[in-house]
Amino acid sequence: MSILYADVDWQPLIDVLDQAKQIHIIAHVCPDADTIGSQLALYHGLKCMGKKVLMHNRDTSPYLCRYLAAVNDITYGEIPAIVAASDVVIAVDAGSLSRLGMETAYFEGKTLINIDHHASNTCYGTMNIVDARYCATGAMIYDLLQHLKVDLCAASAAAIYAAVLTDTASFRLANVTASVHRMVADLIEAGADVQKAAQSIYQSHKAARFELLKYALDSLHIGDHGRTSWLSVRRDLYQKTGLSGEDSEGFIDYARSIEGVDVAVFIREEDEQVWKVSLRGKPPCNVGYLAEKLGGGGHQYAAGCTLYGTEHAVQEEIKRILPDILTP
Ligand code: AMP
Ligand code: MN
Ligand code: MN
Repeated sequence: MSILYADVDWQPLIDVLDQAKQIHIIAHVCPDADTIGSQLALYHGLKCMGKKVLMHNRDTSPYLCRYLAAVNDITYGEIPAIVAASDVVIAVDAGSLSRLGMETAYFEGKTLINIDHHASNTCYGTMNIVDARYCATGAMIYDLLQHLKVDLCAASAAAIYAAVLTDTASFRLANVTASVHRMVADLIEAGADVQKAAQSIYQSHKAARFELLKYALDSLHIGDHGRTSWLSVRRDLYQKTGLSGEDSEGFIDYARSIEGVDVAVFIREEDEQVWKVSLRGKPPCNVGYLAEKLGGGGHQYAAGCTLYGTEHAVQEEIKRILPDILTP
């Protein structure tokens, strides 16, 4: 095994974990495979060390993570009293406190540890290990487990693999370095099943998803002389197809894959006039900046936010800021 970034100081966190009586690991709202994979990998590692660990999130885990070991041990919704009794909370992959979806009072009197790779992270924790060089929070957990000197078990390896695979858009981003591939080699040797991951994540879509995709592609339009592409799914289309937001995961990739497009925008109506906005940019178009301007966050080339109003109003709001990042 090899450490991805040897200059990260994990010791203060290791000292806290040594003293911790019970640890609550928490993922961000509307969880993706990076936050869930990080949560599970850390859970397995800390369990191996004999720690008392619980996992609880506001929202249910996405369907694509269902093959990962212990995913059904994650509770969600109202905080159970047993979880609330934790003295240490570890947040993984959440750029701000609001992304945890908990009342701030919940964290009072607890040590809150923030492990994340978003450049926009607000450092809301008692302790913040934030490093945007990492391609996924799962890769941070890979380094942490080595510092904790726990063996990488097959369950942790599979969870980290899912995190890294999805957060790098299947190893297609510029932050996929040779060291990332060396880590992946380790994960496979430790028992991560690449085929199982591919099948569960990319080849297990409901047939109805493609009904929804037809509607989404119907909405496709190109703007800014070919430099922007737009997709949207209204709420009634989810109702019509009996699907939910997670079933349109990946739709933005169609918008991004068009030749000459520098910024892709996918908006989906989560609730009446409540739109989840997904943004993807090709270098140097910094959609992270755009998302932050609109009250959200994310990375330079993959970011998001929530906007309110009609479909048209939301698109206009985005268009107002677009010139700032659409440099000639
Ligand atoms: P998505 O388009 O949902 O795949 O999200 C892309 C990136 O943007 C992820 O790194 C998210 O963490 C981030 N992101 C999405 N929505 C929000 C939001 N409302 N607030 C902050 N960050 C977000
Ligand atoms: Mn995430
Ligand atoms: Mn991530």
